[in-house]
Amino acid sequence: MIRYGAALLCRQSDFLYCVIFMDRCVLLAPAKINLYLEIIGDRPDGYHELAMVMQSVDLCDRVTLSRAGTQDIRLKCEHPLVPSDETNLAYRAAELMCQEFSDAYARFGGFKIKIEKNIPVGAGLAGGSGNAAAVLVGINMLWKLGLTSIDLHLLAAKLGSDIPFCVSGGTALATGRGEQVAPLKDVQNYYAVLAKYQSLSVSTPWAYQTYRKQFESTYVREADDLAARQSRVHSGPMVKAISNQRLEQISALLYNDLEKVVLPEHPKVQELKETLARSPQAKGVMMSGSGPTVFALAESQSDADEIVKAVRSALPDDDLGLWVAPFSSTGIRLVEA
Ligand code: ATP
Repeated sequence: MIRYGAALLCRQSDFLYCVIFMDRCVLLAPAKINLYLEIIGDRPDGYHELAMVMQSVDLCDRVTLSRAGTQDIRLKCEHPLVPSDETNLAYRAAELMCQEFSDAYARFGGFKIKIEKNIPVGAGLAGGSGNAAAVLVGINMLWKLGLTSIDLHLLAAKLGSDIPFCVSGGTALATGRGEQVAPLKDVQNYYAVLAKYQSLSVSTPWAYQTYRKQFESTYVREADDLAARQSRVHSGPMVKAISNQRLEQISALLYNDLEKVVLPEHPKVQELKETLARSPQAKGVMMSGSGPTVFALAESQSDADEIVKAVRSALPDDDLGLWVAPFSSTGIRLVEA
């Protein structure tokens, strides 16, 4: 609930996030899935160079930010797997803003951050990154900083590779280590069925390190050999399918290099993927990010519901979480304004 004033939140980079006045804001941070994830090689900074097509889906965490009245940053999250201390990505986002905008911090003080988790944790759905993006956007509003989404992307990139995408969301091509985000035409009216064993999580650093151990010989070696690196990137057909808005084409081109290490390590995830794929309504099936969430694409809510029903009856396991999430064209959004 915004107590005083009004806010306008825009996705386009040339709009200002403009605010009249508020001292508390509630934001929704959507999950993302990777329609495409290709590992190109190593970067001089030690990260992997990636080509990813990201898609926001409407399964959201709720982040409430309010002024603390002191210089403290306090964070509350009741999820047992999410830290409430300075290691939480949302806390780190608030800390970054306090460092970068020390005058505003001195004037307005710190924050209370409350995170209500709906996105499964350690799932390859960028839950933590979305929470951090929400804090950047929220503080921009509370402190009336007038930052553009380009400014917010630059700040977000200091915190983590997926966070710039989470700020603006929608459908986008992410390159570099994932922090260079180019918006694509919004993919409208489709649905993702997300499936994850609740007790299973995969560490993103583990997935990338294991991939490096097994596939390093395929990496493009020369950091400066732009032509060689460009010839390795195969995301073009997916980008074209997105501009054509064709779900069959998009589904046929789903790709994720990290499946090569995560699926052999977790046969249950492989089985889950195969079960989703057996459903006639599933247009395409893939693991998201570093997993272990797998998703199926569907043309309608009723098709998505049919997929859920089929998977529930094929794999009757209380540990299996299933969610239907429509594609979303927005990143962080303000609610209760
Ligand atoms: P990504 O897709 O960006 O790799 P993920 O979806 O695989 O992320 P997260 O849910 O972001 O994974 O959580 C990864 C780890 O980060 C968890 O083990 C958790 O303890 C820690 N973490 C720190 N801050 C948060 C947060 N705000 N929400 C969730 N997890 C967080």
